[in-house]
Amino acid sequence: MSDVIVYDVVCGMSAPLGEWTDSAEYNSKTYYFCCDGCMSAFQKSPEYHLENFAEEHPGVDPAPKG
Ligand SMILES: [Zn+2]
Repeated sequence: MSDVIVYDVVCGMSAPLGEWTDSAEYNSKTYYFCCDGCMSAFQKSPEYHLENFAEEHPGVDPAPKG
């Protein structure tokens, strides 16, 4: 379903899956980003951003299932 809510782990913004245009694969998961800047920041240090996101959003999975 396209109404799954997805998070940008760099800036923390959230939106329905269908609205994202930038994405990157990491550890066989797909992450979505609001802009090129967030995507390249993620690609430079993915672990840093994933850990940061996990601390600020406990229990939230930023990557959609599948
Ligand atoms: Zn962003």
